[in-house]
Amino acid sequence: MLVALLSAISAQSAPLLWQVHSQRVDVAPYVDYLREPETGLSYEQLAQLPPSSWTPNPAGNLSFGYSTGAYWFRFVINPQASSTASVLLELAYPVLDHVEVYVQTSGELVQTLQLGDKQPFYERPILHRNFVIPLELKAGAPVTVYLRVASTSSIQVPLTLWDQAAFHISDQSANLFEGIYFGIILVMILYNLFVYLAMGERSFLYYVGYITAMPLFLGSLTGLSFQYLWPEATWWNDQSIVVFLNLVVVFGGIFSMRFLSVLPSNHPKLSAMVIFGVALALIMAIAGLVLPYQLMIMPTIALATVGCLVLLALSVYRWVLKDPAARYYTVAWVLMLFGGIVLALSKFTVLPRNLITENATQIGSALGVILLSMALANRLNREKQLSFLAQRRLLTEERKVRAAQEKSLEVQREANARLEERVLERTRDLEKLNTQLLELSATDALTGLKNRAHFDASFQSACVRAYRFGQPLSLLLVDIDHFKQFNDSYGHLVGDDCLQMVADMIRQVVTRPQDLAARFGGEEFVVVLPDTPDGGAMRVAEKIRQEIERMEFRISEEVISLTVSVGVATQIPEHADQTKELFERADTALYQAKGQGRNRVVGYQPHAATSEQES
Ligand code: GH3
Ligand code: MG
Ligand code: MG
Repeated sequence: MLVALLSAISAQSAPLLWQVHSQRVDVAPYVDYLREPETGLSYEQLAQLPPSSWTPNPAGNLSFGYSTGAYWFRFVINPQASSTASVLLELAYPVLDHVEVYVQTSGELVQTLQLGDKQPFYERPILHRNFVIPLELKAGAPVTVYLRVASTSSIQVPLTLWDQAAFHISDQSANLFEGIYFGIILVMILYNLFVYLAMGERSFLYYVGYITAMPLFLGSLTGLSFQYLWPEATWWNDQSIVVFLNLVVVFGGIFSMRFLSVLPSNHPKLSAMVIFGVALALIMAIAGLVLPYQLMIMPTIALATVGCLVLLALSVYRWVLKDPAARYYTVAWVLMLFGGIVLALSKFTVLPRNLITENATQIGSALGVILLSMALANRLNREKQLSFLAQRRLLTEERKVRAAQEKSLEVQREANARLEERVLERTRDLEKLNTQLLELSATDALTGLKNRAHFDASFQSACVRAYRFGQPLSLLLVDIDHFKQFNDSYGHLVGDDCLQMVADMIRQVVTRPQDLAARFGGEEFVVVLPDTPDGGAMRVAEKIRQEIERMEFRISEEVISLTVSVGVATQIPEHADQTKELFERADTALYQAKGQGRNRVVGYQPHAATSEQES
């Protein structure tokens, strides 16, 4: 109120003195302004206003925030130079809608201009992203400039009066900085786009969206987009600010969620909040294509501000949770914010105005973009490394399992082999037992010679073989003489011993492998001699008889001897089954031997048999 009171008293600012060596002068301190009444005000009507209607601008920037009404500004330039000078008046806020310029020299209107971004770009007197008005100054002739500003954007009127040469020199550096900034961003866009195309990792695509929307937003704000991209699109020029700022929030939000790992799986509430903000920004970006600028700009700025703060808070939170990616992210954000703060401080003249402070936003933003891109690649690399390690661990586990499986299989195989071996062993044992059993069943228990059953079978096959090869087959029937008496005198046990000894003797005499000696029953033995003619058979029989006769038995001091009678028959079989006939012949011969007085060998004589049978 005091300031207002003071302003009212002083009523008019001092004139701006333009000297010979003046390079650039900040106009703000020399400006008077007034708010246009609802009823409107024309240039002609200004002259009739009382001087108290004007308010001197105390200090700093001419900034009035968002306002539906128009503002009038005026200032006086007092040229001190001796001759004429061409100067440039720069209004460095290119998003103002309507700017009317009236120039008076010595109280006379000499120049009128219609500026603002509601005019096509090429209608400007000087084709520059900012509004630049050329002025002619003559020594001693003061120039008064009136400006009428009406805009749906915020009303900011940063005015600078430039020496023409100084303006161009300064503008070159500014252009160079803008070029470097947009060049860096363009390269980053292409680089990240190629990385996305090569790897298919969607984080890069969102990042590309983010760093595409951001320079477009800045370009709209600085008037570069209007100058180079859409110089005729006066409506879109305003809307583009709303659309691109919302898209920055959309892509920035999605990208940050992935980058900071704030996902529904680990932070359900936080991620839901971000998703809500992103959805809202997307709706607003689409609405920005239709709804008027003045309706959209405030909510957009509010959402962007809240979004910035939330993402910064999230990244700090994730940093506290020891997410290495959050460190990069926070630093990048701080760099970008720092650029904005430096610019603001230089605008409020806290920091000196120079190339660095003027372009702090671009520098901070470019550094942030580069850092984030590096961090993104780094993160991807780490994820790949982690998944590689996990895969390797899985592989070793698998190999271990397979080895264990193989081992158990081996053990099973070994067990099977052992079992098989055991079975084989048992089978062999059984076979052995079987043959033993078979032998046993073919053996006579008392004498150890073959028994009757075995004799029957063997005699049969010997007969078949003899018939087949046409060989003589001989059969001996050996019967102990008077054995009944022997048994009766000495008892059956001694009789058994005698039987064993006789059997041993027969076994000693009958030695050829194919020969067979067997106990036929009681005290009778049989000997089968294959491939043996009657002479040989008689010799074997005689040998048996002699050996047994020579044998001595000792029974308690008494020495006794035994004799045997042997019947011999020899035949070359005329048919396969001739055993019965041969046996009968041997039996007949034995009968004859008994009849002839025992202890003798008798060969079968067909003739003798007949005669004996007859007798
Ligand atoms: P021969 O001179 O006519 O042959 O008179 P033998 O007494 O020998 O004839 P016989 O056929 O009449 O008697 C056979 C006897 O052999 C009857 C029995 O006492 C005896 N004997 C038969 N088998 C066995 C046996 O396994 N052990 C004993 N100790 N004696 C037996
Ligand atoms: Mg007998
Ligand atoms: Mg006998």
